[in-house]
Amino acid sequence: MTWENLAKNQPFVATMLKNSLAKGRLAHAYIFDGNRGTGKKRMALHLAKSFFCAQRAGVEPCQTCKECKRIEHGNHPDVHFIEPDGQSIKKHQVEHLQKEFSYRGMESAKKVYIVNHADKMTTSAANSLLKFLEEPLADTVAILLTEQLQNMLPTIKSRSQVLSFAPLEVQAFAKLLEEEGISESVSNLLASLTTSFEEAMAFVADEWIAQARSLVLQLMEELQSRPNQVLLTVQDQWLPHFDDRPKQELGLELLLLWFRDLLYTQVGKEEAFTYVGEEEALSRQALALSQHKVRKGMTAIIEAKRHLSANVSPQLVMEKLMLRLQEG
Ligand SMILES: [Zn+2]
Repeated sequence: MTWENLAKNQPFVATMLKNSLAKGRLAHAYIFDGNRGTGKKRMALHLAKSFFCAQRAGVEPCQTCKECKRIEHGNHPDVHFIEPDGQSIKKHQVEHLQKEFSYRGMESAKKVYIVNHADKMTTSAANSLLKFLEEPLADTVAILLTEQLQNMLPTIKSRSQVLSFAPLEVQAFAKLLEEEGISESVSNLLASLTTSFEEAMAFVADEWIAQARSLVLQLMEELQSRPNQVLLTVQDQWLPHFDDRPKQELGLELLLLWFRDLLYTQVGKEEAFTYVGEEEALSRQALALSQHKVRKGMTAIIEAKRHLSANVSPQLVMEKLMLRLQEG
């Protein structure tokens, strides 16, 4: 792991920190804001190594000295790591940290503390930390990691330098979801819909997204082979499942992704599929439609999204869309 490696996924943050290190001008407090899996913790540890390393080459830590190794193994006496204890980070955890900091000079005057899920601090913990940030000690760096910047106290934000991590690429995010035990087919779909881990997990709850996915498949089959059935399915199954406006928008997004896969099938870009595992249905449908019709279908869905956001009733939007898709 090097700064150059880190810059591949997070060019802005890595370059920013590298420059500050080179100038010897690190901020007293950073907030690393970014979705799960974007490498916030890895970046924080690398920064700590650069900060402590005894035989740094430029800004690059050596990875072999005692300082680097202890940071790597999580047992450096001057690098502290706080995580939520249950649901939240509690006041006593921050106070414990402050106590540690009062024994300065154990190894050197330098200290780094990393707070994971910093948005989960209780109000009293946050206020306790705030006091800390208001009177920063020399050679002390605080790194607060969060996936929910909007939940952090404005007073903490204003005393920190906020660095925003770029979201993961679709493929990398799908992989992360798979590692959480979500099926490949659903992971791919989720990664196309959101870059937020929490949002993805909310979709997974109660099989909501899996059901939504099979409704898309069903509707698309019916459009081709049982057109008389389509409006009934919209009425009886689609509308009850996508039962509020954000979900209705999502429903249209799912249809659009299906059409995009049809187009990918036609142009031979199967590796870019969102609906992994549905190759058979996709190629059958793609054969029956011209590229022109697929593009017209996509235009119709995009228009339907516009109508929905202009407050047209979801039932009307869906019925009109189904008729347009049947016209082809
Ligand atoms: Zn080193």
